[in-house]
Amino acid sequence: MIQDREELLHYGREMIARRLTTGSGGNLSVCARAEKRILVTPSGMEYLSMTPADMVACDDRGTVVEGGRRPSSELGFHVALYRHRADIGAIVHTHSVYATTLACLHREIPPVHYLVGFAGHKVPLAPYATFGTPALADAIIGTIGSSNAILLANHGLVAVGPDLKSAFNVAEEIELVARIYYQTLLVGDPKILSADQMDEVLLKFKDYGRQPAAGESGK
Ligand code: 13P
Ligand code: ZN
Repeated sequence: MIQDREELLHYGREMIARRLTTGSGGNLSVCARAEKRILVTPSGMEYLSMTPADMVACDDRGTVVEGGRRPSSELGFHVALYRHRADIGAIVHTHSVYATTLACLHREIPPVHYLVGFAGHKVPLAPYATFGTPALADAIIGTIGSSNAILLANHGLVAVGPDLKSAFNVAEEIELVARIYYQTLLVGDPKILSADQMDEVLLKFKDYGRQPAAGESGK
């Protein structure tokens, strides 16, 4: 568990370093399903002044079991996502600028670049609901489908993955696609990939980045 606390802190600070959020904005969690434990960042604390001890441990219903801090105000949607999708092991919520710009325009992100495949065929948009409310959790659960990323109207982005490294990576790649999409809209007429073209990308993504184990051939 101490390793999870350090990893949460590491990726929280990476959110700041890579300009995916500011101050105490956004939040992160990891879920240990076997132990029915969720570890989440504390509410309203700046990532740069947090320590591993500030992370809050909860059960799978979001009841705090360990830690002297209040959990993220978005713990409700983290709990709901872990319950809704068994493939999710970690969640990264950001207020990254380009994804949030599109979310404020109430635009989802179509497959304008193949990297949208980090989310799926597109990045859907959840309708607006006040931060930290059950209504926001409902909006996310009602919209996310099998996507690994979702825009929150007038708010930001949620990325999910089997672990923190992949959820963080999704958040970063989708921010890049959001920026590209925004820029193509400014110039004019973005050309959108077809469902078949995205199917091909998603197939290739299945083993993209998988390097041979020691002794295995790289061919
Ligand atoms: P917390 O600091 O409570 O996690 O809230 C930040 C946020 O992004 C709310 O949506
Ligand atoms: Zn937020």
